[in-house]
Amino acid sequence: MSLRVEAAHKVFRARRGARVVALDGVDIEAKSGELLVIVGPSGSGKSTLLRAVAGLEALDGGRVVIDDRDVTHLPAGRRDVAMVFQEAALFPHLGVAANIGIGERARGSRRRDVEARVGEVARLLDIEDLLPRMPSELSGGERQRVALARAMIRSPRVCLLDEPLASVDAELRLRMRGEIRTVQRSLGVPMVHVTHDQVEAMAMGDRVAVLGAGRVLQCDTPADLYARPATTAVARMFGPLPMNLLPAVDGVVVGVRPERVRVCRTEDGAGRGGSVVAVEPAGEDCLVRVLPDEASGDLLARLPWADAPHVGERVAVAWRAEDEHRFDATTGKRR
Ligand code: ADP
Ligand code: MG
Repeated sequence: MSLRVEAAHKVFRARRGARVVALDGVDIEAKSGELLVIVGPSGSGKSTLLRAVAGLEALDGGRVVIDDRDVTHLPAGRRDVAMVFQEAALFPHLGVAANIGIGERARGSRRRDVEARVGEVARLLDIEDLLPRMPSELSGGERQRVALARAMIRSPRVCLLDEPLASVDAELRLRMRGEIRTVQRSLGVPMVHVTHDQVEAMAMGDRVAVLGAGRVLQCDTPADLYARPATTAVARMFGPLPMNLLPAVDGVVVGVRPERVRVCRTEDGAGRGGSVVAVEPAGEDCLVRVLPDEASGDLLARLPWADAPHVGERVAVAWRAEDEHRFDATTGKRR
């Protein structure tokens, strides 16, 4: 099984004639059993892309291909695509079990078979105890799990998740990440998971497509995106923290990740001199902002608390040569 989107183009026309290019030639591919994450800021076209795959939005150009079959002009109901939205839309007058099984019932499956399938997915998602409840008796995270179960029950050809964890609290989000991966492996279908959360993208994706203004800026494994961002835009967007980019010298922009910047007391050794302008706690670590003496933008460093300098302290920042990334100052492309 596979999903391919080729050269997808979508333009929205707003009321006063303004045009919004939501998708500007997007290519993505997800294979059987693969979890592809689409990550990008708000408004970059993530939902439009998923809705186009599901058949909820017509493309102005390009194709959607599922299992080598062009479904671009098929209605949503005939695409065999399951989609979970940010806010779980459950039927309020139906119980949880009925909500999960409703699609199967509508397709004419026997009540008994549906009940058995509902039991299976409920076990998989660890929500068996929720089955007798009504949607109004569920927390946000529980509702989202029910929506996930409803999407999974009919073994779709493709599974799409549009920021399903965005309104789930932090602890449950961590668990649900793992559960989504488990379900995805057991389904064995291509899954596309949309998020604006870099950490979630890195943790979940087999591959990650970074979307910016309706274009795929780069699509790679999380490790490769982190180690070799193709452009300065990806370097700033993808990763636990934006990469530091130094002012261009001779047409080259040097980048270094905050995780790789060392901050030393000036007397200790070589490096660029500067002063600490901010220290911010970040769990075990702290984020230190240094204004270099040859000032043109500050530098962020992530250090263990034990090494944290004080605000106002004189320091030197340094990094290893192999931790430098080089980009073309004009095009922003990796050299
Ligand atoms: P994301 O999900 O990444 O936040 P969307 O795909 O929802 O982004 O939106 C992409 C762009 O298309 C945004 O600029 C948004 O305002 C615009 N857009 C989305 N849907 C519509 C619509 N129905 N009418 C007009 N503009 C829209
Ligand atoms: Mg969206």
